Amino acid sequence: MKIAILPGDGIGPEIVAQAAKVLDALNRHGMKIEMEYGHIGGAGYDAAGDPFPQATEKLALESDAVLLGAVGGYQYDNLPRPMRPEQGLLRIRKKLGLFANLRPALVYPELVNASTLKPELVSGLDIMILRELTGDIYFGQPRGIRVLENGERQGFDTMHYSESEIRRVAHVGFKSAMKRGKKLCSVDKANVLDTSMFWREIVTDVAREYPEVELSHMYVDNAAMQLVRAPKQFDVILTGNIFGDILSDEASMLTGSIGMLPSASLDENNKGLYEPCHGSAPDIAGKDIANPLATILSAAMMMRYTFSDEVSAQRIEAAVRSVLKQGLRTADIFEAGMKKIGCAEMGDAVVAAL
Ligand code: NAD
Repeated sequence: MKIAILPGDGIGPEIVAQAAKVLDALNRHGMKIEMEYGHIGGAGYDAAGDPFPQATEKLALESDAVLLGAVGGYQYDNLPRPMRPEQGLLRIRKKLGLFANLRPALVYPELVNASTLKPELVSGLDIMILRELTGDIYFGQPRGIRVLENGERQGFDTMHYSESEIRRVAHVGFKSAMKRGKKLCSVDKANVLDTSMFWREIVTDVAREYPEVELSHMYVDNAAMQLVRAPKQFDVILTGNIFGDILSDEASMLTGSIGMLPSASLDENNKGLYEPCHGSAPDIAGKDIANPLATILSAAMMMRYTFSDEVSAQRIEAAVRSVLKQGLRTADIFEAGMKKIGCAEMGDAVVAAL
């Protein structure tokens, strides 16, 4: 297994180092994971004048999976747009054809008080948001700002989804539901948007191949409400790029702790890019206080989705649960009575539990 490791900026190098420790520990137990490092984001700009340097592109293409920390930092905010750190992320996703973004929102019993929602609403929560990542209004052409005949200026974007784009992400959704609670809720805005009407038609058609999965449809406005009203009604939520962008952030807050949330972005052959949901947290970078668990859990997702190694995935997840049970907490999830530890210590604790 060859993994490209791209630490990126801010807390990226600190948190990725902890996930690398966990992968090293798996290697000591007989796995053969080869790790090669590359630059991305601001680190790419600093090293090679490009947020997605050619060497990184080559490394990503020849690897089976990519583990990424985070990108971004104040020092890059005034660069021209093509040189900005986030362009590195957009370009690697595009280059690797990563169309399926999986974000689990899971509430650990030990962290149930971290959520801003009542404990009884989120206790035991385990949902998966699947967001289509390469289509929709974010990429549709034409787009821009134009001058109308009456001289007024107008901003415009184009929403569209082709049948093949909907089918391939729907298959990922149904397969994911088959491995979980066998329920899939497809979220759209079919009462207003033609694109959504078509989305609903194709998802319904794909569902015929998965008779065991219970399919439901929900309008996005209702889904936004249901996610904070009764989030446990969901198993897998399948949705397009723009709705998924918003709903996945909303769902992540159900857990209350951004430092705990992993993600996977997959291509058609389950090659994937794995990264925590949070950003580069420049406010705490270099202080050894960041929570590395989202990145470590991203490595677990890599074992599950790219390497089909459920045993290693569960071992990593069980190790994370075990350190939480031991009362070990980084500052972001700290509460009275627990033991506060740093980023590197947390990585060591997970390795010990593993
Ligand atoms: P952020 O997620 O970096 O930080 C938000 C808050 O959460 C901060 O207070 C931060 O300290 C805290 N936080 C985040 N991750 C944490 C962790 N692992 N442990 C403890 N605390 C953590 O979002 P932001 O402040 O809006 O953005 C900072 C930079 O990150 C910007 O340059 C932004 O563009 C970039 N960003 C990158 C990604 C990515 O790489 N995928 C995603 C979002 C934002």
